[in-house]
Amino acid sequence: MSSLLIDNATCIATLDDADPANGRELTDASLFVRDNQIEWLGPASELPPALRSEATEVIDARGHLVTPGLVNTHHHMYQSLTRAIPGVQDAELFGWLRGLYPIWAGLTPEMVQVSTQVAMAELLLSGCTTSSDHLYIYPNGVRLEDSIEGAKAIGMRFMATRGSMSVGQSAGGLPPDRVVEKEDAILKDSQRLIETWHSAAHGAMLQVALAPCSPFSVSPALMHESAALARSFKGQGVRLHTHLAENDHDIAYSREKFSKTPAQYAQELGWLGEDVWHAHCVKLDDEGISLFAASRTGVAHCPCSNMRLASGIAPIRRMLNAGVPVGLGVDGSASNDAAHMVNEARQALLLARVGRALQAPETREGKTFFGCDLGPAEMTARDALHIATRGGARVLGRTDIGHLAPGMCADIALFDLRTLGFAGGAVHDPVASLLLCASPQAAYTVVNGRVVVRNGQLATVDLGPLLERHNRLAVALTESARQL
Ligand code: ZN
Repeated sequence: MSSLLIDNATCIATLDDADPANGRELTDASLFVRDNQIEWLGPASELPPALRSEATEVIDARGHLVTPGLVNTHHHMYQSLTRAIPGVQDAELFGWLRGLYPIWAGLTPEMVQVSTQVAMAELLLSGCTTSSDHLYIYPNGVRLEDSIEGAKAIGMRFMATRGSMSVGQSAGGLPPDRVVEKEDAILKDSQRLIETWHSAAHGAMLQVALAPCSPFSVSPALMHESAALARSFKGQGVRLHTHLAENDHDIAYSREKFSKTPAQYAQELGWLGEDVWHAHCVKLDDEGISLFAASRTGVAHCPCSNMRLASGIAPIRRMLNAGVPVGLGVDGSASNDAAHMVNEARQALLLARVGRALQAPETREGKTFFGCDLGPAEMTARDALHIATRGGARVLGRTDIGHLAPGMCADIALFDLRTLGFAGGAVHDPVASLLLCASPQAAYTVVNGRVVVRNGQLATVDLGPLLERHNRLAVALTESARQL
């Protein structure tokens, strides 16, 4: 039995249910963890003495802000090997993909395992404790196990998704034929992975979802059959994930091939529902937002990637107001190209304030709007933190993570308010400073009760040798593509 006391925090932002707006924010507070769960939290002065003497580890949290561990709902971790590739730095989605597919065709199992750990290291050091990963390319013997093993070694809570591509160029799809798989093999492997790895238990460290890649790389039949397979595991919470409505080309492809908007296409396929979350949704129209809200279909909002690829500005405020569950995603490492979850939340806030560009001032409900929907009120700092924690947990179908309360999993991030980025901000409002000031690294990251980042350093893997190996593999991958 292990126990951890996080003691005398300057502020604990619980995001709990006790305050319906943003959760309680407790000052001079402590939090006690037994094994993998939070057992007690409250004012430090009220901590039961027995708990203090029982603690096997104590983190002195004076000068720190404590938040729930952040939740990343969309990523492609193998792309850490292909960041900042010349030739696609300034391309939009389809051109960017066409430039990178031939390089990704050279991926090996070792590359997937090492790049997954690098991506997770970056997330953990930014206070993220749970991540999804969308692995949709399986050349050269790559298996989903390669990323699962990477996650286990580094100690991150993981939603591994079995992605897939089945429609190559010769059949009208975007990817080259040599990187797509046969649909019966995809479904067989999907079933094997769910049966082998998926856990519906409270506190599960590993879950598996099914994730055909996008409308332009898989068939409607595979979408249908993947949904049927996931839902055949009744009561097991096997979820469905894909890309949707990412940019104007994506919309044009849907209209041309399926004569539908992406949301109408998702509806026809049975891909709306509480068990589904879609990445991007930049171009979701009002009808789409209504369909998502009515079915409680989730959205992984990826602001940095949407800006990097000039895809556009997702209508997040309208989604939230309609009741669509929204989480945050850093998206693949080659279209961000950073994976810092606090920074992602900050960018979500900033991008929302740029908002939906208005051609002329609009008057609604007696108010006149200039430039964008709501201006600075479009997204507050606390809204952004909520999306990055509770929002993400909901989108991933988790009720045991995303806020801090007794009985919840001990997934916790600590940020040192005495550092440069918080100077002159944390003294006024530590919670807002986390989002508004320079995005800090986490001082501590606790996953399932285990200290994975300690004093700003990864405690589970040796980062130096990992990066050296990763960079060697990144060069080998691009070199092998050049020689083809
Ligand atoms: Zn993506």
